[in-house]
Amino acid sequence: EFLEDISYSSTLMTRAAVSKAHAYVTAMKGCNNYCSYCIVPYVRGPERSRTILEIKNDVENMVNNGVSSVMLLGQNIARFGLENHEHLPLLLRTIGKIKGIKRLTFMTSHPRDFSDDIITCFEEIEALVPMLHLPAQHGSNKILKAMNRGYTREDYLEIINKLKATSFWNDLAITTDMIVGFPGEEEQDFEDLISLLEEVRYDNSYSFIYSPRPGTKAYKDYGSKINKELREIYVKRHMKYHDLQNEIAFEKNKNLIGKVVEILVEGPSVKDPNKLSGRTVGGKVVNFERSQKQTVETGNYVMVNITKAHPTHLKGELFND
Ligand code: SF4
Repeated sequence: EFLEDISYSSTLMTRAAVSKAHAYVTAMKGCNNYCSYCIVPYVRGPERSRTILEIKNDVENMVNNGVSSVMLLGQNIARFGLENHEHLPLLLRTIGKIKGIKRLTFMTSHPRDFSDDIITCFEEIEALVPMLHLPAQHGSNKILKAMNRGYTREDYLEIINKLKATSFWNDLAITTDMIVGFPGEEEQDFEDLISLLEEVRYDNSYSFIYSPRPGTKAYKDYGSKINKELREIYVKRHMKYHDLQNEIAFEKNKNLIGKVVEILVEGPSVKDPNKLSGRTVGGKVVNFERSQKQTVETGNYVMVNITKAHPTHLKGELFND
């Protein structure tokens, strides 16, 4: 389906989501990387990018229909446009200039392809919000090699250190993907994974226990079954990772208490429809009481005073209500 999808028509590649104000826009599809555990290159095919002009026209049309927040998507968006002699920073600069775009984000960047110019874009482009998903997948060089990720722990930390040296680091919501229990992971490898988490201090991790995917290199090399004893060890390791990540996220969220932040309202809170829910520029969920005085609707931007933190979300009150 994707291989035949050459024209990349706007209707196929764009879907408004979450609220009338926010849209996901696919900038490219496919992946050339062949990480040993991943099925994506086999089912989605090689990288194919839309042109910047096509994406720009698409986003301008959406802005005319009320969209003000856009997330540009691609399996490895850091390699966007190369076959068309274009690149991600040019796309970000072009979309960031569209009048009416208040929030611009992009996902997912492979660390090997993440350039210094992308970091510069965060400094330069007002609409580009401080939010970055940079999948590390592991913290051990042995495991990163077996995963065929194409970078070392040191390469990854070099990017993190460059980000730490910027003016926006303290505001940056940084997230990652991690796989615990990749075949061959020993205690020292897991300690390296934990120490990476401690060094970067992610706002959130999408972490999983390795599961074999038929058709991948890891499946051929290590098979479909995971030894029961090892599985128990991996489950414990994953819990340890998960608990530490929650602790870090909670500490980072607590730093927001007392701050007044801008929220894009997404609609009623899932757990309590009497409350409204929205997201900060860093993508953090904030639930807050509806106002008796102000009319607040889905798609509005409102200022909220953060009053309480949880590991996964925040609570607040409308500012000046
Ligand atoms: Fe590509 Fe990401 Fe899959 Fe690696 S994990 S092959 S970069 S889609």
